[in-house]
Amino acid sequence: MTLNLNDPTLLKTQCFVGGEWVSGSGQLEVFNPATGKLLATVETVGSAETEQAIEAADRAMKAWQKTSAKERAVLLRNWYDLIMENQEDLATILTAEQGKSLAESRGEVAYSASYAEWFAEEARRNYGDTLAMPQTDRRGLIVRQPVGVVAAMIPWNFPSLITRKICPALAAGCGVVLKPSEETPLSALAMIELGRRAGIPAGLVSVVVADNPADIGDVLTASETVKKLTFTGSTAVGKMLAAQCAGTVKKLTLELGGNAPFIVFDDADLEAAAQNAALSKFRNAGQVCVCAQRIFVQEGIYDKFVARLKEIVQDYRVGNCIDESNTHGPQIHERSVLSIEEKVQDAIAKGAKVVLGGKRGEQGPNFYQPTILTNVDDSMRVFKEEIFGPVAAIYKFKTEEEAIQRGNDTEYGLAAYFYTRDLARAWRVSEALDFGMVGVNETVITADIIPFGGMKQSGIGREGSRYGLEEFTEMKFICMGGL
Ligand code: NAD
Repeated sequence: MTLNLNDPTLLKTQCFVGGEWVSGSGQLEVFNPATGKLLATVETVGSAETEQAIEAADRAMKAWQKTSAKERAVLLRNWYDLIMENQEDLATILTAEQGKSLAESRGEVAYSASYAEWFAEEARRNYGDTLAMPQTDRRGLIVRQPVGVVAAMIPWNFPSLITRKICPALAAGCGVVLKPSEETPLSALAMIELGRRAGIPAGLVSVVVADNPADIGDVLTASETVKKLTFTGSTAVGKMLAAQCAGTVKKLTLELGGNAPFIVFDDADLEAAAQNAALSKFRNAGQVCVCAQRIFVQEGIYDKFVARLKEIVQDYRVGNCIDESNTHGPQIHERSVLSIEEKVQDAIAKGAKVVLGGKRGEQGPNFYQPTILTNVDDSMRVFKEEIFGPVAAIYKFKTEEEAIQRGNDTEYGLAAYFYTRDLARAWRVSEALDFGMVGVNETVITADIIPFGGMKQSGIGREGSRYGLEEFTEMKFICMGGL
């Protein structure tokens, strides 16, 4: 399948190691999940090239640390400009390999670019501190130094979002070895080609792809040279990688799974709540870690809310999103469809009612129909597990206390949302929800400026914001005596 790109040289099919596009020993086929058609065959690498990438990052980092913060800022800003200039091509590659709508892909590319811009600015604000020492002949300083070579791993649902990890690392003075998901390597490879054109020094950032992620993951997590792992993906894989990192006591940033409650109180703006529930639940076919997952609606407005949500969702046009008239795409692979199917069947067997959908889509093996379930309860798998698909389960509740208790009843703690017009309730509920990010009457809560991340088993650390830069630094105390 050929993609209609303004700059076809952005479609890279080799790994980027030590500043060069390298031939690999294996092959990875990348398919369009909407059509099942082959998009590209990527040459893959293994442990030897991963070791080379680590050594190259370590070498390049030594020179990079000596550059001024302003020089780093200029490079990151160049990268931002190039990403935005190539937004359309990057969105086309993204939709082709991942399936989300072109509108969403354009948004993701701009969102990815925003981290290059943000960390271009933050590179110059890597401030330290001075301490009022108890002894008058001493002065105390705290400086922040680059943490070291960083291993970065990203998932398939936001494949262009390599900048949220690479840009703060570069701003702080670190080198990076990045591993994209095997499902969607093309976006990361196109993005790094633009990084190369923006002037990333040879070797400072490598992108390695394997058909078996453990081939690369094992080397990165065992390496003495790699000082930090920043991983986005499932909680299960995050725990495994954290255990692997224990041997060398690496610093960790983990952005893991979510099970967001979306609570609608009976004093809410019902239209806004229904529109935003639909947006949050169904974007990227439900394959978003912060998407509304368990929708709780107070009993007085429950029926109206369900009816309105159904009206909105039944108008979706599901299909291959390279055709711009389609609004919603496929799941990433058939395994994912099977997993959604099992969870919906479990709910139906326990008494759930299907208001909309409830079946596989007719467009191909990777499609599942936008689905709304009512008569659901907390014993069902759709309540307990991440659905990661286009299934809205709508739970009924009576009191504020009950909504908070059930909303918090999950091992995850990434994002939560609620709709109310009562100011006192807005404060109470925001403070009571055990989640890293809370949207009050709003579901678009992520941006370069905010600290993105979760509590509980949703992860460790934050990405973006000024705190996102700190994650790539070590704090050093310097005591200067003899004054
Ligand atoms: P996953 O954990 O299965 O895979 C994620 C990444 O881990 C991929 O790049 C994969 O190649 C890699 N991986 C898997 N096994 C590995 C190994 N042995 N060694 C090294 N790397 C390995 O998750 P997924 O299905 O790709 O993504 C979906 C999950 O990601 C969901 O749980 C979602 O909530 C989560 N997610 C979280 C965030 C966040 O910021 N919190 C953002 C997006 C996705």
